[in-house]
Amino acid sequence: MDKLNEIQNLYKEYYSYAIKNDLLEVPEGIEYREFGYGYFKKVDNRNISFKDEEEYKNWVLKNAPFHLYKSLSYMEFPDKSGGANKKKVFRREIAFDIDVHKTNKCRHSDDWVCDKCLNAAKEQAIYLIEEFLMPDFGLSKEDLQIAFSGNRGYHIYIKPKDEEIRNIIEHYEKPQRRFFIEYILGKNLNLNKVGSGWRRRLVKEFKKKRIATKQFEKEENWKKIIEKRKNKDKIYSIINETLNKLELDEKVMDDDIRLLRVINSLHGYTGFIVKEIKYKELDNFNPLKDAIFNGFNKKFYNVKIKQKVDKINIGDEIYSTKSKEIPASVLLFLFGHGVDFEIIG
Ligand SMILES: [Zn+2]
Repeated sequence: MDKLNEIQNLYKEYYSYAIKNDLLEVPEGIEYREFGYGYFKKVDNRNISFKDEEEYKNWVLKNAPFHLYKSLSYMEFPDKSGGANKKKVFRREIAFDIDVHKTNKCRHSDDWVCDKCLNAAKEQAIYLIEEFLMPDFGLSKEDLQIAFSGNRGYHIYIKPKDEEIRNIIEHYEKPQRRFFIEYILGKNLNLNKVGSGWRRRLVKEFKKKRIATKQFEKEENWKKIIEKRKNKDKIYSIINETLNKLELDEKVMDDDIRLLRVINSLHGYTGFIVKEIKYKELDNFNPLKDAIFNGFNKKFYNVKIKQKVDKINIGDEIYSTKSKEIPASVLLFLFGHGVDFEIIG
């Protein structure tokens, strides 16, 4: 069986399902959006645009790319190459991209995934939402759009229900967007004058580590307090750890012509769905089950895996080098990771 042809058919099968069921994201203001796609690289091509929803959907059905992206920005000339000036960007969505490394509990190679690193990614998404976006920026769950990235991460879009606010933030210039992300990364945290958001977050961490917090809760000038403490090294290290908790891709906030994966497209490295998740479903979301297209669990292939691979747990099954029969979901994962295997039937 021709491997590439079969993979391409699986992508087509998914996209026809996703489009028929109205699952594939159709970016707002589609005629102003740039699209990009890839098969063997993440982005083989960009500067693509569509005049309307129909043209876009037909293109996706026909080409079924392994990676599919849309611009966060709205542009007058989305199909022009040569940067934001040529494209005339006039509006831009705000989104965060959490992209985590494998954890020290992971027992696999760098580019593989397991429940531990996928959980770490989810915890970071929840932390960003519950510790920053909601309390410090006053956003509610209705103002957020959350998507699993299809690999070890999450995309969190800020889409305030209040049109006026949305209009303001989608006209932020780069320095304003930078301010947003730098606050979250604690880059401008000043220990001589700690604001309420960071105070709340850090006090919480201090309490977990049994540091006396009474003074920190009352005073703004923490430097003064810490320097007098015997355990100041420990305190500084907790602060440092807290500041580095989130693995955010700063470019996704920064870059004027940034592309981000289309929601409910497939991720070509894993074959997982870039799945939209409601905030209240996030806690129980398990990508190894919930981001797998159901149709891919029902179709099986006899394969010969010709190299040693780490175990992969998809659905409720564990697959390894020895597996002789694998579902389409695992086939896509192995293919996306460049594993040498043969389809026998
Ligand atoms: Zn892992």
